[in-house]
Amino acid sequence: GVMPPPPPPMGTMPVPGRPMMPPPPPMMPPPPPQGAMAPGLMPPNPGFAAAGGVMGPPPPPGMVPPPNRAMVPPGAPPGPQSRIDPSQIPRPGAAPGELVIFETREQGQHVAPPPAASRFIVRDRGSAGPRHMRSTINLVPFSSDLLNNSQVPFSVAVAPMALPDPEDDPIQVVDLGELGPVRCTRCKAYMNPYMRFMSSGKTFTCNFCSHTNQTPDAYFCHLGPDGLRRDIDERPELCCGSVEFVATPEYCIRPPMMPTHFFLIDVSQTAIATGATATACSCISLVLDDIPQQERTLIGLATFDSSVHYYAMRGPGKQPQMLVMCDVMDVFAPEGAPLLVPVGPNKAELQELLKLIPDMFAQTRINESCAGAAIEAAINVVKPIGGKVKAFITCLPNFGLHALKQRDSVGVGEKDKLTFLQSQDNTCKTLAMVAADLQVSIDIAFLAQGYVDVATFSDLASSTGGSLYQYTPFNAAMDHDLVLNDLKWNLLRPQGMEAVMRVRCSAGLDVKSYSGHFFRMPSNPTDVYLPAIDADKALLANIVHTEKLQPGTECFVQAALLYSTPDGARRVRVHTLALPVTDNVANVFKGADLDAYMCYLSRRVASTLPGATLAATRDMVTSTIVNTLLAYRKYCASNSSSVQLILPEALKLLPLFTLAILKGPALKDGAKPDDRSMWCASMMSLPAARITPMLYPRLLPVHQMLANEPGALPDGLVCSAESLEAGGVYLLENGHDAYLYVDKMAPPELVQDLLGVKSYEELGRAATLPGGLFPLIPLDNPTSAFVQDLLTKLRIHRSSFMRLRVARKGDAAEVGFFNSLVEDKSTSGPSYVDYLCHVHRLIQNRMAS
Ligand SMILES: [Zn+2]
Repeated sequence: GVMPPPPPPMGTMPVPGRPMMPPPPPMMPPPPPQGAMAPGLMPPNPGFAAAGGVMGPPPPPGMVPPPNRAMVPPGAPPGPQSRIDPSQIPRPGAAPGELVIFETREQGQHVAPPPAASRFIVRDRGSAGPRHMRSTINLVPFSSDLLNNSQVPFSVAVAPMALPDPEDDPIQVVDLGELGPVRCTRCKAYMNPYMRFMSSGKTFTCNFCSHTNQTPDAYFCHLGPDGLRRDIDERPELCCGSVEFVATPEYCIRPPMMPTHFFLIDVSQTAIATGATATACSCISLVLDDIPQQERTLIGLATFDSSVHYYAMRGPGKQPQMLVMCDVMDVFAPEGAPLLVPVGPNKAELQELLKLIPDMFAQTRINESCAGAAIEAAINVVKPIGGKVKAFITCLPNFGLHALKQRDSVGVGEKDKLTFLQSQDNTCKTLAMVAADLQVSIDIAFLAQGYVDVATFSDLASSTGGSLYQYTPFNAAMDHDLVLNDLKWNLLRPQGMEAVMRVRCSAGLDVKSYSGHFFRMPSNPTDVYLPAIDADKALLANIVHTEKLQPGTECFVQAALLYSTPDGARRVRVHTLALPVTDNVANVFKGADLDAYMCYLSRRVASTLPGATLAATRDMVTSTIVNTLLAYRKYCASNSSSVQLILPEALKLLPLFTLAILKGPALKDGAKPDDRSMWCASMMSLPAARITPMLYPRLLPVHQMLANEPGALPDGLVCSAESLEAGGVYLLENGHDAYLYVDKMAPPELVQDLLGVKSYEELGRAATLPGGLFPLIPLDNPTSAFVQDLLTKLRIHRSSFMRLRVARKGDAAEVGFFNSLVEDKSTSGPSYVDYLCHVHRLIQNRMAS
């Protein structure tokens, strides 16, 4: 018979990453290949910890580690015959398995951060931690020529609201009363540990522009014999890289806005038939209890098919009244109707209404969707206050304002321009700007079966600081818990509203551009506007030199975010990063950061691909890293034999992660347009810590873990079919999707305990849910409990509920699982070894020419 769907969680499921959850388990990167790699070693310059392993035998302590001359045995002929020794290939791993305490500075010096996805605890020693600011280079070249020689990008990923580890040093709130945040009067940089107090404390010199400021009387303090203010330890802004100032009235145009959420629910025939309507209603109803600030938070909702149906909430004990807007070409919000009400006193009526909606439309024959018009209508409802529109969309909007056409990508080759990844409705962009200006952000969940034109919709989310969630192909029985957890996390994660951010650089450097989910006003080109900002969003500031810096000094990057908290406070969160300046190109490579580099590179793909060709974008990706590796070769390893591929230690995984981009949903052949668009939208907004796991998933041997003592997570395996043993059971996850793979030789008892079927053959024959999916249901035995517990741990660590699919012979989940084994040759692209050979040949050709 058909398996029952998993029970709804009824508020008991863990919400990933909530601060009240136990700390996430330590992340274990995949192991090095058989005995080939030594653990991480300290490079010679103090203050820079090696992020990864070193090729070859470990050098004695204190010695310079050899470069990664791994690929080709000396003396081997160059060109296509180049052989690569698989045991010498750089792999993720060799990072310490245990928890790392990361101090942002040691002995007055910047420290290069640990890998973004590893587990570490941040001690703020006067410079912002890597969760909040992560630079592609930890040692800044003193001139643009030197930067250009290195061919390493210079960008800083800034995640101002990043989720801290529960044990991180908390960001302290500084309330200077009427004085407000102390700033440089010339460049407006905020007070930070690098401002120098002079003249017995009466003046201070700005570390950004060197201007000498008078110390405000209310801020004066005597200097001690060390020349530092005596109150330095009591003032977080003088000793911490990250602080939050209480804003004074001049930082407020109006009182901080009330948190407002307006839900839009698709009730067209498809939405009803697929259970999308029921899922949306159930999830919204369940989260109403969790919404913080129940008395202040305003809630409203509307449903839509070929018209928009508002619901006037007439107060406790009274039935809501439906108001239908039939003209969906000229959208308005009914005036005077109580469409937004505080959740607390109206919860019972809202929950009753949400229960009724699926039944009210159960017999509908209307299969038109005016989703675009409905979003515009919702913006009109919330515009007096601002707030969040959360739309649940099931099909391509084909009716009313912002109706969209089906766009066909069949037969599009790699030389064709991907115009269908650009918006087909320019008025959507305008609408997004209008919304952003009104402090309205737009979140969209696609509970669709097929194409919904994510490309056009993503404008609405990306310009307003919103989020996109894709559940296509939506399956009500499988995806209910995922939708619920995503919605919960959306409401409960650290977040801010009506925000403005600016990134400042010290003299000689400047921000050239930003990428991320935000909008800019033509009247103010230097600030980015964020109607909403949350823990899962990062902006990337691309930095250029405007003049030469002084080697041996430090330069500074400061991100200041002015925002309103959900409980109605106005704050300025300030992160200041101090980076040393170097005149040595080798130091630029030593201090390069792989996670930030991949954040930069994936955002470049995401911004380049729409409207470009696959071939040109792929070439751009490979030539970017070839330029970097060639520069290293030229300036740091010129004496090496040309038959060796030599990789800088800090960037030795650059080819592997780049290959993963090339084989991922954005750039592989045959990917669906919506999947390409979704990848681009995710990469444009995610912080660095979420990007590398999406590129190189974690593969866990469940059958081995079951046999071992329970405890910490083991290392992940190399992402290759060669890692799979006969009879094994594996869990693969990338922070977004998860797969459970069962080998055909798996012991029947294990299959029975885990999946509730008698054998692997039975699994293939078992009746499934609609869509051919096989659910993983919690069963009453230790094996099943172990796997459920493992899933919970992984979900907390990734702050993501993840969609779990059981891979069965010949089904889509099996294809998804094997496509995730990025080191193997597949229809998506070459094997890791072949790609290394390709990169090596390109470098050799460039050196020869
Ligand atoms: Zn200044």
